[in-house]
Amino acid sequence: MTLLLDNRQRAMLAEMGVRTDFLPAAPSDAIATRAPAEVAPASAQRVDTLAQAATPPAPSIPLAQAQPLASLASTAVSELGWEALEQSVRACQACGLCKTRKNTVFGVGAPAAGPGLAPRADWLIVGEAPGENEDLQGEPFVGQAGRLLDNMLKAMGLSRRAQGAPQDSVYILNVLKCRPPGNRNPQPEELLQCAPFLERQVALLQPKIIVAMGRFAVQSLLKDSVPQVESIPLGKLRGQIYNYRGIPVVVTYHPAYLLRSLAEKAKAWADLCLALGRARRPQD
Ligand code: SF4
Repeated sequence: MTLLLDNRQRAMLAEMGVRTDFLPAAPSDAIATRAPAEVAPASAQRVDTLAQAATPPAPSIPLAQAQPLASLASTAVSELGWEALEQSVRACQACGLCKTRKNTVFGVGAPAAGPGLAPRADWLIVGEAPGENEDLQGEPFVGQAGRLLDNMLKAMGLSRRAQGAPQDSVYILNVLKCRPPGNRNPQPEELLQCAPFLERQVALLQPKIIVAMGRFAVQSLLKDSVPQVESIPLGKLRGQIYNYRGIPVVVTYHPAYLLRSLAEKAKAWADLCLALGRARRPQD
């Protein structure tokens, strides 16, 4: 599939620090993306460690081996509506992060489709965990990384503030709803405890496509469909379309990591082109 870049998108990419001259380019003004290899479902950095995402096997995160603390009743969560889900997150004490958080960070983006209903957004961006600013403001992806994400979205014609049609709208959330102290990596048991909230958010949002940003987001979404995903470097997972509960998933780097690496910004843009191509494809 070929995606044409207009001047506005080029300007946004320049703002992102992506040099369009060395992007994989088709003749004239086009960016060619390779045809996505779809991965059939098997059944579906943090700032301080994001650099590891591109390096050979990151330390293993044995999500599958982690024992749930069994304090969060996932069956109950799976029946909650959007507003009740948000309240449930706000009140959650299922893991130790509740003791140090200032705010829970539920998500942000398109407005609710109606009273008590989930937002209508075709795009779901899934990050990792709140950092200091996110914890203070109760919103994901704020600060420098958030601005970069907003520019990436603008380059695609999308916005977290879009009020209009679902295809232009985005919802943004993290796999963990509370900040790990000192921006340390999320622990497997924390990810496990928080997973029912993510699952329910995705079930209610029903986006057309999910973009997983960063190692822990990728592992959380692909742990059931990609064997030993925790031992595969993020760079090796890129370029394919995966599946999370029937929804296509594209893997890319976390914006906080991209702030440190110009070369990876170009790769991230290629990932977004892959996602755009999949999102625009007629429904199967
Ligand atoms: S991180 Fe998730 S599971 Fe832990 S207290 Fe916060 S909302 Fe609950």
